[in-house]
Amino acid sequence: MDAQTIAGPLMPGKPATASRPLLTPPGKSVLQDMEQTRLAIEMIGMGARLQVLESEVSLPRVRLVRLYKELCGVSPPKGMLPFSTDWFVTWRPNAHASMLLGAYRFMTRAGSLDGIRATLSSFRMYREHMCVTGEAAQLSFTRAWMLARFYERGMLQLACCHCCRGDYVVRAHDARHRYVCGLCLRPARAGKGRKPAPPRVMTG
Ligand SMILES: [Zn+2]
Repeated sequence: MDAQTIAGPLMPGKPATASRPLLTPPGKSVLQDMEQTRLAIEMIGMGARLQVLESEVSLPRVRLVRLYKELCGVSPPKGMLPFSTDWFVTWRPNAHASMLLGAYRFMTRAGSLDGIRATLSSFRMYREHMCVTGEAAQLSFTRAWMLARFYERGMLQLACCHCCRGDYVVRAHDARHRYVCGLCLRPARAGKGRKPAPPRVMTG
């Protein structure tokens, strides 16, 4: 599956016309327009990439790009979204992804939040947790969004660790019977080699 499939169909950018690029499209209420603008602002504040915004916000691309530039002071970065499920099952990211997906699942079930609202809430919770513990964040908002999408499409799921009873992210076809997580069964070189980065939230 490629990034295009995950991100949904990407509309080719339409050139901004001088006539009415910033007006509310016909058939859409001003309130809906404001709500979508607020959602876009919130997502940009979290570090969302343009492709993610286009998938979740029903505003013209030209307005999203303009909003992004106004808020970030730079053009949105180009390039593909990270599209592999492999990253989420590597040792350190797996612990972070598992925490975030557990929060996402709680938000959708107990909190009754829909997709993007659940992603935003669980990512905010994850970030706050990283601030409290002082640990470097592994997941950017884009990664968190991809994680939720992979989970909703059944490409990633949660498996219960046989030892600690915690739920951890595994690939759809990984064995779940008597699964032991990476924290209970650390790989020999886990956590060695690279110095942890100072705490920050990545945007890519
Ligand atoms: Zn465990």
